[in-house]
Amino acid sequence: MFEQLLNWYTRERRDLPWRRGVDAYGVLVSEIMLQQTRVEVVIPYYQRFMQRFPRVEQLAEASLDEVYEYWAGLGYYRRARNLQAAAQAVVALGGFPTTLEGLRDLPGVGEYTAAAVFSIAFGKPAVALDGNAIRVLSRFFALTGTLTAPRRRDLIARVLPLIPEQQAGDFTQALMELGARLCVPRGARCLVCPLASGCQALAGGLVDSVPAPAPRARREKVDLLALRIRRGDQVLLERREDDPFLAGQWVTPWFADGEGVLDRYVSEFPGTPVRVGQVSHGVTFRDLRIEVWDWETSALDCGPERRWAGPGARLPRLASLVLGL
Ligand code: SF4
Repeated sequence: MFEQLLNWYTRERRDLPWRRGVDAYGVLVSEIMLQQTRVEVVIPYYQRFMQRFPRVEQLAEASLDEVYEYWAGLGYYRRARNLQAAAQAVVALGGFPTTLEGLRDLPGVGEYTAAAVFSIAFGKPAVALDGNAIRVLSRFFALTGTLTAPRRRDLIARVLPLIPEQQAGDFTQALMELGARLCVPRGARCLVCPLASGCQALAGGLVDSVPAPAPRARREKVDLLALRIRRGDQVLLERREDDPFLAGQWVTPWFADGEGVLDRYVSEFPGTPVRVGQVSHGVTFRDLRIEVWDWETSALDCGPERRWAGPGARLPRLASLVLGL
């Protein structure tokens, strides 16, 4: 049934670095990077990352700071931390798990990523349902209404036996490629689509209404307090593993609940705080409003998980906004 799709993929596929004979490790790195990030953005990051950490052992042994350095700019840093934890688990296991369940047990690896690695790296049939694959398959089978968890399981069960055994990896990538290039959310290019002859949404005039749009998540407004504590041309940074947005990153101190924060920091870093203004920043479904306080201190010691950073320090965008105010 999907023969024409595979022929189209063989002809039309883009030459992406993670398609050039990579192993399970390369597939895992690319899939984690591609979550919530566009292909064109990921390519240079992937190449740099794989040059520095070409094997899973090298990533497992690296310091987390260095992993973050090679991730800086891609955002969603929790992915980098999980990726390294997955690499460490793989090394501890003596190699990549070769079952879907085993792959799913790796830190940060969900159902989709496990299926992608299983099919692309090991050539085993699995249905990797990312946004592109869901759109293509929902249209192909004209699945109207919301794709609930049970319907998703039904879809996987329906597609699994249709995957050509020798081309499981190509099938996964072909679906992604078709969803990215022809079966796009608006203005699907059905006239040149290899699935057009069997596509039920096309036959039924449902292309623009399938899949049903996901309910819009309500954006949450969050008020935060950030501190710009300066010592000459240096600024105080700290790192918190439990930070809700920038876990493990070096950032200017910031707080969701600002009560007592100024007094606490001024007693540690003496000075006269001045409110310098407010910056706004959107992070996934949250609109952050950050009130920034600034002061000069003469304190030298800053304690563990803190450091003084000079003007050239590379910082996450949120911290740069606070410093640039
Ligand atoms: S025919 Fe149109 S709607 Fe159907 S899979 Fe192809 S591009 Fe998508």
